[in-house]
Amino acid sequence: MRIVLLGAPGSGKGTQSQRLVKEHGIPQISTGDLLRAAVAKGTPLGVRAKEAMDAGRLVEDEIVLGMIRERLAEPDVANGFILDGFPRNLLQADALDALLTELGQPLDAVVQMDVEYDELMRRISGRRSCADCGAVFNVLTTPAQQIENDKCPKTGEPHKLFQRPDDTEETVAKRLKVYEEKTRPLIDFYRGKGILQTINAEGDVEEITERLEEALQAATVQTPAAAAKRKAAAKKKAAAKKAVAEKAPARKAPAKSAAQKATAKKAPAKTAAGLKRAAAAKKAAGKGATTKAAGKTAGKKAGAKGTRRRTAVAKAGRKTKSAPARRTLAKKKSAVKKAGKRSR
Ligand code: ADP
Repeated sequence: MRIVLLGAPGSGKGTQSQRLVKEHGIPQISTGDLLRAAVAKGTPLGVRAKEAMDAGRLVEDEIVLGMIRERLAEPDVANGFILDGFPRNLLQADALDALLTELGQPLDAVVQMDVEYDELMRRISGRRSCADCGAVFNVLTTPAQQIENDKCPKTGEPHKLFQRPDDTEETVAKRLKVYEEKTRPLIDFYRGKGILQTINAEGDVEEITERLEEALQAATVQTPAAAAKRKAAAKKKAAAKKAVAEKAPARKAPAKSAAQKATAKKAPAKTAAGLKRAAAAKKAAGKGATTKAAGKTAGKKAGAKGTRRRTAVAKAGRKTKSAPARRTLAKKKSAVKKAGKRSR
């Protein structure tokens, strides 16, 4: 299964990813973790990334995309992966799309983890990690005694807790702003692709995992192929509807062809007989002129009521400006010319 977890900083993407890793045996790919590893190693890339990370900004796309490309080429992703913290803007989402299409491995699901702003603030500013084993605690929600009693599996001592440099209140506010501006648009992006699921990511961790699993199950029922099919069908339907709407005035003409043709051909001769015939033809054709030629004639006949009629006619004329309608009009105009010559 190929999954993206989408959510603001502090929405629990990391926590839930780790649970999915255990349950599904697929790797978690966190760009935040990859970047922090590069920073810790002091690689040139890490040095470039650190400044942006500490300031709460996004790291350059080029760096992140390079890391993702390398990571997705590793053999352990063959059965799927969980992307955590990537993509984070539309450019990254497009690049991921292209990359996965190239690999023939499209995403199965994108789960948006929904959490209120205040809760996000509380979660992140209270977050502390153990420097030795990486376990994460929240000092605002977990009693100090409980943290004290939980020994580090690496050292057997109490955890050595530290706060991530980008978890200070000021930087968190900046990160949340960046999320709103750059990452939130991805919700619509993936909704448009028919693979978005949204869960309430507040409350008990266990319950959130259950919601997440349910969302993933729902997404698997709607496989990408099924989603693509649904999307194509919806697109076709919309295009057909649009075509009908655009062609509506022009398409009515053939339906009333006998009467309409008579009107179009003969009325412009401007003879009394012509006008009479046009009126009769219009009557036979039913309400409303559907072509410019027929409309003009009917408009003249209408006489005193002409203003309202002409407005309708003008509208009808404007409506027939689509390509097929123009062809119909051109034909009719030439027929009219001919008819005119004949009658002279
Ligand atoms: P969080 O989701 O809590 O902000 P992460 O560990 O995912 O934490 O990311 C930490 C920082 O790493 C981000 O604030 C950002 O500077 C950088 N980062 C992570 N992923 C990306 C990404 N896909 N694109 C750009 N920058 C990223």
